[in-house]
Amino acid sequence: MSQPLSELPRADLESFRDTQQAAYDDLVASGLKLDLTRGKPSAEQLDLSDGLLTLPTTTTTPDGVDARNYGGLAGVTALREMFAELLGLEVAQLSAQGTSSLTLMKDVLTYLWLKGGVDSERPWGAEEKVRFVCPVPGYDRHFTLLEWFGIEMVPVAMTDTGPDADAIAALVADDPTIKGMWLVPTYANPTGQVTSQEVAERLASMPTAAPDFKIFWDNAYALHHLSAEETKSADIVSLAAVAGNPHRPVLFASTSKITYAGAGVAFVGGSRETITWFHDNLGLGSIGPDKVNHLRHLEFFGSPDGVREHMAKHRDLLAPKFAEVERILTERLGGLGVASWSQPRGGYFVSLDVMPGTATRVIELAKSAGVALTPAGSAFPYRNDPEDTNIRLAPSFPTLAEVTGAMEAVATCVLLAAAEHLLA
Ligand code: PMP
Repeated sequence: MSQPLSELPRADLESFRDTQQAAYDDLVASGLKLDLTRGKPSAEQLDLSDGLLTLPTTTTTPDGVDARNYGGLAGVTALREMFAELLGLEVAQLSAQGTSSLTLMKDVLTYLWLKGGVDSERPWGAEEKVRFVCPVPGYDRHFTLLEWFGIEMVPVAMTDTGPDADAIAALVADDPTIKGMWLVPTYANPTGQVTSQEVAERLASMPTAAPDFKIFWDNAYALHHLSAEETKSADIVSLAAVAGNPHRPVLFASTSKITYAGAGVAFVGGSRETITWFHDNLGLGSIGPDKVNHLRHLEFFGSPDGVREHMAKHRDLLAPKFAEVERILTERLGGLGVASWSQPRGGYFVSLDVMPGTATRVIELAKSAGVALTPAGSAFPYRNDPEDTNIRLAPSFPTLAEVTGAMEAVATCVLLAAAEHLLA
């Protein structure tokens, strides 16, 4: 059947609902225990990096520093060089730190809040109000972090080429309380879009009422391609410099989904001044990062191409799972007018939009059938999905067979919820 459900005569819709209810009851009886909630690498993916466990073979860095000792606040230079090339930066524009880029985002926000940035008139915390533009759907932890700071969130839609730059330019032009924005520029979490060069250029150059407006350019998935087509991220730091706003972007990245999610290396990037500012603030609480881990990563990859080759191995494990999500959604939901979904070319997520008003119900149904989905509204500021439509699917962690089982179950829940909704 590929007629939109909403066009079915009521009697047919009732019988459709009964069929889905029976399928759902079978699911519940089958006692599933599956989880599509978090974008974690699978054990197989982590195994790819087990070479790290016997590294480094030397404790001296290529420039002669004893990695075992204190010092070197910016991280091991050779590792910074490797990732500067991969991220399109100069070495002086990149700092290598601990395991989590999210921690670095919180650090940067904290420094802005307490001290202000290189271009701030005063600390953000001294402003009466601070607001942030948040492309939606987006990454839940970005939003909960802002909520913790008391920073007000202004949602703006994502488009196929990145966030709606016209809407953002209009918002920031004469509102000095808008101090920044989030952006996952490559393979966005959860919607998968890549921010185009044009959109990046606009964001880098748009006039802002706040002199210290910041783009938190969270390039968590810069190298995480799902096909041989390796989309390049826009070079936001150069674009901003050319536009006369050199300190606007602060870039973040990590090897959390390259090596070990819990024991990788995280990076912060930006203008030289931004990096100096970051180190000046960081230096109060750190004499240097874990340089032994930096060396371990340096030896493990060998070169930027080593990182790219390693990512191709992740791709081989991840691509079949994404293909399976796509297959089941297409086969089960295609043509019925009950859902649309992203077809990402990289990253860790598929964003599923079900019939407006039914996402909460779908997630409830799935939970009762033993399939954990990210709570409704998670991808929105204040967990408020105004249309109750979005569900983030994360197929990386489960096995392929588990992805199949979970997605078949999700499809049944989507169909049942849609039929119930139309009959209500
Ligand atoms: N940013 C985005 C967009 C993410 O999806 C994630 C992980 N889910 C992170 C940051 C977290 O990165 P890290 O492990 O480096 O803290």
